[in-house]
Amino acid sequence: MSDEHGPKREPLSVDSAQARPYQEASSSDSEIAFPGRGDTPPSGSELAQAVLARPEQTPQTGRVDASRRPTVRFAPVEGQPRDKRQRPLRDLRISLTDKCNFRCTYCMPREVFGTDYEFLPHSSLLSFEEIERVARQAVSLGVRKLRLTGGEPLLRRNIEVLIAMLAKLRTPQGEPVELTLTTNGTLLGRKAQSLKEAGLNRVTVSLDALDDARFTQLSDSGVSVSTVLEGIAKAQAVGLSPVKVNMVVRKGLNDDQILPMVEHFKGSGQILRFIEYMDVGTSNGWNLQEVVSGAEIVARIQSRFALEPVAAQYRGEVASRWRFKDGSGEVGVITSVTQPFCGDCSRMRLSPEGRLFLCLFASQGYDVRAQLRSGASDEQLAAYMHGVWTGRQDRYSEIRGEQTTSRDRIEMSYIGG
Ligand code: SAM
Ligand code: SF4
Ligand code: SF4
Repeated sequence: MSDEHGPKREPLSVDSAQARPYQEASSSDSEIAFPGRGDTPPSGSELAQAVLARPEQTPQTGRVDASRRPTVRFAPVEGQPRDKRQRPLRDLRISLTDKCNFRCTYCMPREVFGTDYEFLPHSSLLSFEEIERVARQAVSLGVRKLRLTGGEPLLRRNIEVLIAMLAKLRTPQGEPVELTLTTNGTLLGRKAQSLKEAGLNRVTVSLDALDDARFTQLSDSGVSVSTVLEGIAKAQAVGLSPVKVNMVVRKGLNDDQILPMVEHFKGSGQILRFIEYMDVGTSNGWNLQEVVSGAEIVARIQSRFALEPVAAQYRGEVASRWRFKDGSGEVGVITSVTQPFCGDCSRMRLSPEGRLFLCLFASQGYDVRAQLRSGASDEQLAAYMHGVWTGRQDRYSEIRGEQTTSRDRIEMSYIGG
């Protein structure tokens, strides 16, 4: 999304980010020109300075809604980077695979992600050791929450091994880091226990309908709703809680499921969250007319159940929270389209083959794998990531247009939600 035309080297484009096999990767893939390449490796500060300065993004016409949440300013912490909009780095989302056993129509439509679609070869994926190294540096730079995602992260073999490695990470103050995972829930019934034992704290499960026929249609899979509900129940039983349940709402497709979903999850201890349908990627043909706004979702729920707003628990919390007045829990709405929250966005994303993306709607990533595989020390790696973050100015949701633009953007199934 951001136009990046810095003085040195371009960040890699979507095509190269998604298709380049590991064998082609080398330190020369980096968007950062190593000062004195071919001589000694650069120092941490040289690397940090070499990161590109990025120009302002170009606003698009037809902005969706000028009303935004107030921007919360973060108190600076010494040694921790701020981006160009003074946002700290707090979350790292790690996409483990671009593959999935579903073909949700808004994310991986089968016409695009069919049998001839070229997914990343396994050989190009970051190893668990490499992921852990990136996560460790991110934690040293301020990250307090790690989320594993995909594609479907539970398809990544031996994911428990990675979770155990990440669960050992500690902040500079010696605190553990929150470790979560987003899944479509199909493998959760089988895996919840081992995920918990490995050190996972919580899961978020996606479920877009309670009605079986509708769910099959939306996920374009043969999986039944009961399989996902069993996964949710198992996750709760083993203590991966509170389990959050995400429902993406599309007008005319599943908005009639809002109230049945509320009725089902109300009082269960599981937190239902409604997500406005977003223009992620370029394959879902997004149109504003299909978005049901968070305000409308809340109004529909309020027509049946009394709700009151809940204050945000922490800065950068993505969901607006609403509590049932009868004390039977809460729901959330994630309004990235109608009420953008870029001002508080503290998320960095790591793609399966090692590109860092600074926004869900980015078209260009930073090749941290090249750093990992060219012998960068931990200090150099941290400096590289520090430099990437301090150059960030992404705020796509604040400037999006009414229609999907033709500009390349990464797919949700590649970078994760
Ligand atoms: N496969 C896992 C899952 O579905 O939970 C993890 C990856 S999925 C890309 C992460 C989240 O992104 C899911 O909750 C999904 O519903 C959401 N998502 C995907 N495409 C979306 C879109 N166009 N708009 C809003 N949310 C989307
Ligand atoms: Fe797969 Fe998740 Fe995308 Fe659905 S939303 S296709 S489950 S990655
Ligand atoms: Fe963050 Fe980009 Fe989403 Fe804005 S559009 S909240 S910057 S990921």
